[in-house]
Amino acid sequence: MLEINFEIRKNATFATMKNPQLLRRRLVQGMTLAGVLSALGISLPVFAQDGLVTQKLTDRITLVSGAGSNVVLFTGRDGITVVDSGSAPMASELAGTIKDLAGATPVTTLFNTHWHEDHTGGNEALRDLGARIIAHENTRLWLSAEFEVEWRNTSHSPRRKAALPDMTFYGSGEKDLGGETVQYFHYEQAHTDGDIALFFPDSNVLVAGGLMSDGTYPITDIATGGWIGGLIQANEAMLAIANDATIIVPENGPARTKADLQAQYDMLTDLYETMKSLVQDGFTGRNMLDKGITSKYDATWGDPTEFLLETYRGMTAHTSDMGGFI
Ligand SMILES: [Zn+2]
Repeated sequence: MLEINFEIRKNATFATMKNPQLLRRRLVQGMTLAGVLSALGISLPVFAQDGLVTQKLTDRITLVSGAGSNVVLFTGRDGITVVDSGSAPMASELAGTIKDLAGATPVTTLFNTHWHEDHTGGNEALRDLGARIIAHENTRLWLSAEFEVEWRNTSHSPRRKAALPDMTFYGSGEKDLGGETVQYFHYEQAHTDGDIALFFPDSNVLVAGGLMSDGTYPITDIATGGWIGGLIQANEAMLAIANDATIIVPENGPARTKADLQAQYDMLTDLYETMKSLVQDGFTGRNMLDKGITSKYDATWGDPTEFLLETYRGMTAHTSDMGGFI
């Protein structure tokens, strides 16, 4: 069990964080903390406010869930750094919650872990709070471009200038946040081609962004440079950063552990080998779905349709990385 420090705010409501969509329906009131946690089968105390769930992971790091993606706040000497800004429909609610949590402390910085709208939808609102936006250069390029996203059956229009990062980088690096230096790691062609994970070494918290799913099959977005081989490499590198006490924040849902990341890595590497072999035999993604190649994982990871079809498309675009067999 993780040891998590937390604060109970006045009028707080304890809730499950297993699934943000279920959150509002599963708010539990009028029970003792022990009773609620026992009933929900979870060990991490959290509280909900205005539809968002806020959980203090360490003295300096707070997780806000239910905003479209997980949002992480780090409180440093000079101000608050935010990682990801949730989806656009949740932007004003999220900004209000961050403002409440910040009090008189300025919000100085926003990192985007990648371009997806559920992680950058609140960029403008966070800028209004005073944040400068930092991201990988490819994230800025996608945010300012027009393109199709086949797996989501949608197209992306260029975002307004206020949503675009002010500062970008190409590789990995670190930034002094006043009290702790955050390390950011860029992983090429994983969930997208602009993903970063952020590691707070003193707090031992790893923010995975789109590189770790919330318990559904992880999607690699081929429209913007993702593919399964890159995601596996990214997960392997993240496993080397983490230890058994590391708190890992996935793209959505509750905080996880290294064992959870290992489970995603193991599932992906197993299915990669199976799928690679079937691609060589002429199977399509749809054929693999019909064959039920994920059946032993579906109880844990859910509906494999999007995962299989998008992973197959990514593989056919990366045959040279797999040995050039087609
Ligand atoms: Zn994403």
